[in-house]
Amino acid sequence: MTKLAFIMAASHSGSTLLAMLLGSHPQATTIGDTAGTSYRKDPGYRCSCGHKAQECPFWLHVIDQMAYRGFNLDVTDFGTRFEYTENRLVDRVLHAEHRGPILETIRDSVLRLSNGWRRQFRTIAERNVALVETVTKATNSQILIDSSKLPRRLKFLLRIPELEVKVIHLVRDGRGVAHTYVRDNGWSVEKSAIEWQRGIMATEKLLARLDRSKWRQVRYEDLCLDPQGELEKLCVFLNLDPSRVNMDFRSAGLHVFGNKMRLSSEQAICLDDKWRTAFTDSQVSRIEHLVGKQLTRYGYK
Ligand SMILES: [Zn+2]
Repeated sequence: MTKLAFIMAASHSGSTLLAMLLGSHPQATTIGDTAGTSYRKDPGYRCSCGHKAQECPFWLHVIDQMAYRGFNLDVTDFGTRFEYTENRLVDRVLHAEHRGPILETIRDSVLRLSNGWRRQFRTIAERNVALVETVTKATNSQILIDSSKLPRRLKFLLRIPELEVKVIHLVRDGRGVAHTYVRDNGWSVEKSAIEWQRGIMATEKLLARLDRSKWRQVRYEDLCLDPQGELEKLCVFLNLDPSRVNMDFRSAGLHVFGNKMRLSSEQAICLDDKWRTAFTDSQVSRIEHLVGKQLTRYGYK
């Protein structure tokens, strides 16, 4: 069985950091986000090793091995996203956020009606399995750590019989996440807080349907304050030897795409809690008023 550890999280919650830390374990690896992202169309886009994506020796090897298995892999677009551009209705249904059981049943009924989507799902599933197997084999690893984050992507990966998927639910304080959305997207604090809440709710709905042995939660703040301890616990969950945790993730020879922190030489893992000084008391109160229930549930209030 091909093993995948899926990090499910809101964006800006430390998923690339966690993927690189876990992927540095000698029995594991990571390429960051297995969904691939369109910004890699940038010809100067760099792999975490420093090479341009199209010139990285590791990725050239993966392209070669994928071709051997009958898959044409383009590093600017893996073709592993669960999408169906031939039918706009089906594609819209696919891209909707993960909802509760009733809406998910309706979604599945719509998708079952589409023969085209069934064929397309199988094709995308096979590409995903081939990519995970090729990367784990190329790095002599037992498991691939995937930081693609989105609950709706996880839902489809869980339906691939060839994949054994374990889920790490990475949570970050909603006030910290909201601060990154205000700063980077120019959103209001209200919109930012609601976006964090929306992600948390989609995540919780998916986890409610998953066997408890298949997932584990970790808080970004706990990971930053005690990385060794938190990584050891995650290793036990993933059946990796906890005594072989490797904190030196910058020297682990990884080939990661995704968040720009992949290129930094910064070794230290430091907690980003800039929201505490960046937000006014009034802004913090407005966020807490909107998402206080979720903040309390995860121990932030
Ligand atoms: Zn590389």
